[in-house]
Amino acid sequence: MSLGSDEINRLMTESVPGWGINTSLFCGTCGYNLRGLPYSGVCPECGHAYNASDHRLTGIFLPNAVPFPGSDFACSLLSFGMAGLLTLIALSDPGFFLLVIVFAGFGIAFAFLTWRKTRLFVRAQRILRRIEQEQS
Ligand SMILES: [Zn+2]
Repeated sequence: MSLGSDEINRLMTESVPGWGINTSLFCGTCGYNLRGLPYSGVCPECGHAYNASDHRLTGIFLPNAVPFPGSDFACSLLSFGMAGLLTLIALSDPGFFLLVIVFAGFGIAFAFLTWRKTRLFVRAQRILRRIEQEQS
């Protein structure tokens, strides 16, 4: 039987005082402070897996990793605007209807991206607020 590095980390955390996350790192899902916990494991508050080992950093909150999706929102508006404009043109020249469908498709795709990224952005803002409250 061989132990993986995650298993070794878990055993070290349980048996050696001071081993484990010794700084404030926050769960990427709920913002729980993982200080004092093993380098990899499951968040005690929300149950999501994390790994704070060097070069892994999965499930860990990274404040600058989630920017506001402004460009996706702008592309969505632009695509729907073009679709609307082309609809007016297509009323007199039906040959433009294909372009209306193409731009409406782009608009829907960008709107979907905006929605998904906005959810991540809102969650990151909520975690940032929680971190600020717990540090003050
Ligand atoms: Zn969590």
